[in-house]
Amino acid sequence: MSYVGRFAPSPSGPLHEGSLVAALASYLDARAHHGRWLLRIEDVDKPRAVPGADRCIMDQLRALGMHWDGPVIWQSQRDAAYETALQQLAEQGRVYPCGCTRREIADSALQRHGQLPEGERPYAGTCRNGLPPGRVPRAWRLRVPEGTERFDDRWLGPQEQDVSQAIGDFVLRRADGLWAYQLAVVVDDAAQGVTDVVRGQDLLGSTARQRVLARLLGVPAPRVMHVPLVYDERGLKLSKQNGAPALDLSRPLDTLQAAWRQLGLPALPARDLAAFWPQATAHWARRFGERRLDARA
Ligand code: GLU
Repeated sequence: MSYVGRFAPSPSGPLHEGSLVAALASYLDARAHHGRWLLRIEDVDKPRAVPGADRCIMDQLRALGMHWDGPVIWQSQRDAAYETALQQLAEQGRVYPCGCTRREIADSALQRHGQLPEGERPYAGTCRNGLPPGRVPRAWRLRVPEGTERFDDRWLGPQEQDVSQAIGDFVLRRADGLWAYQLAVVVDDAAQGVTDVVRGQDLLGSTARQRVLARLLGVPAPRVMHVPLVYDERGLKLSKQNGAPALDLSRPLDTLQAAWRQLGLPALPARDLAAFWPQATAHWARRFGERRLDARA
């Protein structure tokens, strides 16, 4: 079986303890399956990209002994591929212009978090059958087909969501002209031949949308595994927005062991990085290895 995994950080700052947990799980899953592990810099939201954060993330990964395979891809250089995908969807009659303002729909929040934030409602379809008089096209939305999307998450088990009900017609190209994360990630995973996505549980709520898009674009949807998030003492998800500090790389082994424990896995006896990686990979392979994958595929 040929396995292709990826780590796809947004370069809005250095990696912190939370993002390392996702990186570690994705790396180990790829290595445990003798697969490739790709690095993709998700700077699709160009204004949010912090200059130099991409290089910093790469340095952090190297310092931890996490080496990626093949060339790095930057989403900011992939406009043509996203345009082609949008055209393909448009030819199926699946794309329409939306004139609703950001305040009306609060789609930026929907964009950033996998799920609708508390109190938000799915897009009501205001512009679905044509722009209301006086409206100008701002964003481009996907006409989402009805029906329940079902998939098996390798960490969380069976999942389902009816995107048309829970989310509604979602944005593919934003009013500011930027490509939506949902479209970019599906196009790139397909272009890079990604078979397995391992990422944080904050993105679980994006998976059904991404599967809908993959089907409409005629590309395979990767298997998924959504690993636990890390919370700070206030109970907030560790994130750059919440002020999570950059990883402490003065003692890389301790940093990795802490991320490993966050996954609920038993302590490893490794005394240095050189011992940590084979021990962690072997443990991961026993726990989440090939046979389990095959059984569920
Ligand atoms: N770029 C996203 C993030 O940093 C991850 C996207 C993904 O793994 O699909 O949260």
